[in-house]
Amino acid sequence: MDNFIEMTFEEADEKFRFMVNNYDEYASFNGLMFETYGDEVEYVKSILSSSPDRVWTFGDGDDGGGYIWNGWSFINRIGYFISEVPCPADTTIQILVSDPCYFCENCDTEMDDPNNTIRDAFQDQDLDKCPNCATIEEMELTGLGTL
Ligand SMILES: [Zn+2]
Repeated sequence: MDNFIEMTFEEADEKFRFMVNNYDEYASFNGLMFETYGDEVEYVKSILSSSPDRVWTFGDGDDGGGYIWNGWSFINRIGYFISEVPCPADTTIQILVSDPCYFCENCDTEMDDPNNTIRDAFQDQDLDKCPNCATIEEMELTGLGTL
């Protein structure tokens, strides 16, 4: 099993030293993020071929949160980072960048759900709804009470 470590962006930056994106001084994350297209992604790929353990991917998690993980990924990617210090082997590092949110298919509304409380409770009951459009009976089933 891989080691799984959660860090803040600041902790990871301190430990692994994210490199400045020299292609775009206005890059996201104070100039550290590389885009998924053009020269920037080509540069990331050039690092990937020699030191894959220095490449990180910023993307959407299944829970609607934004995360950076070590390693190259294609799925739900938003951007890449390159660190000066390589990541240890057999280790997954996850950096929470933006809190998870919950999207209600029923009323087309997105709401903050930082601890996945709403998601977990509604999925447990197989309800494709949110607290705004659930009935009182359904809210009781979720055990959330009135939020
Ligand atoms: Zn709803």
